[in-house]
Amino acid sequence: MRETDLDITVIAELDEAGKPTRLTLELLGLGRSLAAQGGGLSAVVLGSGVEEACSELASRGADRVFFLDRPELTPYNPEVWTPLLATFFRERGGGLVLAGHTPMGQDLLPRLAFSLQAGLVTDCVGIRAEEGGFILTKPVYGGNALAGMKAATPLALTTVRSRVGEALPPSASSGELIPLDLETPAEARMRVLERHRLEAGECPLEEARVVVSGGRGMGGEEGFETLRELARLLGGAVGASRPPVDAGWAPTTCQVGITGKVVAPDLYVAVAISGSSQHLSGMGDSGKIVAINKDPEAYIFRVSDYGVVGDWREVLPAFLSKVRELVSE
Ligand SMILES: Cc1cc2nc3c(=O)[nH]c(=O)nc-3n(C[C@H](O)[C@H](O)[C@H](O)COP(=O)(O)OP(=O)(O)OC[C@H]3O[C@@H](n4cnc5c(N)ncnc54)[C@H](O)[C@@H]3O)c2cc1C
Repeated sequence: MRETDLDITVIAELDEAGKPTRLTLELLGLGRSLAAQGGGLSAVVLGSGVEEACSELASRGADRVFFLDRPELTPYNPEVWTPLLATFFRERGGGLVLAGHTPMGQDLLPRLAFSLQAGLVTDCVGIRAEEGGFILTKPVYGGNALAGMKAATPLALTTVRSRVGEALPPSASSGELIPLDLETPAEARMRVLERHRLEAGECPLEEARVVVSGGRGMGGEEGFETLRELARLLGGAVGASRPPVDAGWAPTTCQVGITGKVVAPDLYVAVAISGSSQHLSGMGDSGKIVAINKDPEAYIFRVSDYGVVGDWREVLPAFLSKVRELVSE
């Protein structure tokens, strides 16, 4: 079936347990509100053992869920996924394609845009339907300005940050499930050799409802142990500004900011972080921001909902023992 310029397709991302990620469900919610302007809403799922995920997507807003269920599609491999999705979207013509602004989305969509010679806007923080198409808004100049963009091609691709859309509750009425008949590429030059799983109880940074981040003022690796304990108690993940990552106190995957990850948890705790524009552009959309910093003039206090002026070595242990007390109640 060919799409119109107003039709929307979400590329689904599944977690380790094979369930749609929170961001995927948010994109469906966003797509549903945009589709109210006259288009249809589809999801496309590639993976292995995706039946349950497809049913969930069909009950969370998708009119149609296209899927390809094969062992070689898990884990994500750009060399396998790109040609398959390029064929799928080429056959469908125009419309808007939504993917999460996650490591996978940031890797896949540029490849797909090149294959399809289609317009791409990454790191989108807002979408509105206008004049028979979509205006895609993204931060520019390190998050100091917003630019509205419109693709000049019938098919527009975008990666979207979390919290732009809202996940819909499951509904009794369900969309249609449609198996795809596409040929997997004969051989991929790239293979996934090793995967590092999160420890039990750890949660991925982009999906976390709570992020506890440390900055240069942590002074070393040991401080991050305290942050990890706090994150564990709050059911969240640990993040970092760039200096601790450069110094090797925290892994690269923890970096939040313009050259790191973009997060939007309900609660962001910034410990010994000054609040540079490069850091803020990765966490500025968080629900509530709590800052702990010994400098009362630190810029982070201007964007925080709550702030504690003090040395983290004194503030954090007290904070931790209160959280421990509350959690054990
Ligand atoms: C192209 C480019 C890309 C960049 N990308 C990123 C990015 O993605 N993410 C990012 O974070 N940065 C990025 N940066 C770096 C950015 O400009 C800042 O240098 C960085 O964010 C500062 O990190 P910070 O706040 O941890 O350190 P600092 O600015 O040095 O701040 C440390 C803070 O800790 C406080 N402090 C010190 N000791 C204590 C204590 N004992 N208790 C409490 N508070 C204490 C200090 O008062 C200070 O406010 C980028 C820079 C460039 C040029």
